[in-house]
Amino acid sequence: MENIKNLTLDELGAWMADHGDKPFRARQVFHWLYQKRADRFEDMSTLSKSMRSLLEAHFHPGGLEGHSVQVSADSTRKYTFRLDDGNLIETVLMPNKNHYTLCVSTQAGCAMGCAFCKTATLGLARHLTPGEIVQQVVEAWRDVEPGNFIRNIVFMGMGEPLHNYTNLVKALDILAQDHGFGFSARRMTVSTSGLVPGLLRFIREGVRASLAVSLHAVDDAVRDRLMPVNRRWNIAQLLDACRELPRDARSRITFEYLLLQGVNDSTADARKLVRLLHGLKCKVNLIPYNAVEDSPFKTPSVEAVRGFQEELLARGMVTTVRISKGQDIQAACGQLAALGRPPKAHKTGSRPPRPASAPDGSGGSPLSSTG
Ligand code: SAH
Ligand code: SF4
Repeated sequence: MENIKNLTLDELGAWMADHGDKPFRARQVFHWLYQKRADRFEDMSTLSKSMRSLLEAHFHPGGLEGHSVQVSADSTRKYTFRLDDGNLIETVLMPNKNHYTLCVSTQAGCAMGCAFCKTATLGLARHLTPGEIVQQVVEAWRDVEPGNFIRNIVFMGMGEPLHNYTNLVKALDILAQDHGFGFSARRMTVSTSGLVPGLLRFIREGVRASLAVSLHAVDDAVRDRLMPVNRRWNIAQLLDACRELPRDARSRITFEYLLLQGVNDSTADARKLVRLLHGLKCKVNLIPYNAVEDSPFKTPSVEAVRGFQEELLARGMVTTVRISKGQDIQAACGQLAALGRPPKAHKTGSRPPRPASAPDGSGGSPLSSTG
């Protein structure tokens, strides 16, 4: 039986037509699934009884089994969900003044092997389906008090979103539907470690979402050490791909820049960063390193972070510093590791493990894909 939340509105409309109903009925189903967050077809009272039974016979409504919820001192909530194959994933709901931002996972684990990230230690268990991605939003929304809402979705949880390209794009399509959640492109941000073929495809296909790119270094030697993906597609290739984003695109690219004490946080690094990004319509989001266990890296002082920011600001670069949320419950960037059960054992080493399957057609390892 298929998860109905794997289907885009067009796909569900086509299925409706094949089964003797009007395609526009799919909009009503989206309304029930995403606006009303119904988890039983029998509750969808605007549909005919026969259609409800037909749906029931073909689909399941795609729930995620809650495993645990942790609440941080700053009210950030971290949900751990158990997938039907036992893998665990994490989703983080962060309160702002009068709305929420939700950080969703796109894979169980991650194959990219970044040296500073806890998720990397898990390796990749598997890609999430579109339904598993959108259901994180449905589940988190149940915890939002009446009158409040989730305004932004950031694809910054476990996994490299562009490694799971096809499912990511479907999930974005589903989340954007007016009859469902209706998230605009500006309110959904996909963060990538720099899988250049996926990035080019994302830009060329005009996928409707904002882009964030984890740059984290201004020299290839440093970036090679921090992010194995750089050995396959270096900084110049990554920035060339970013330059393909049409300049009239409404939203600019955000470059995330992780600050690691003594590694990439010097004044010279700041100046070089501005030079590298020259001509790109972009902004920089500095992320002071969040400590993870058994890691050689250190967080720079508050003064060092401010100093780095000021170097950029003085050169006209729009620069913000990410305020870390949920550190006390290991919910901050780079700390997600679903510790209940590691997805798959693998030998630690500099080469990321091969994914078990690649429904995105990338042919296996994210680093061997050519486009
Ligand atoms: N896989 C995607 C998105 C998830 S990670 C990516 O890498 O872009 C979201 C952000 O957190 C990325 O910029 C990532 O590099 C950063 N990050 C990873 N580990 C971190 C840590 N220990 N401290 C701070 N940021 C971290
Ligand atoms: Fe994967 Fe992103 Fe972590 Fe790198 S930083 S290992 S790409 S989740």
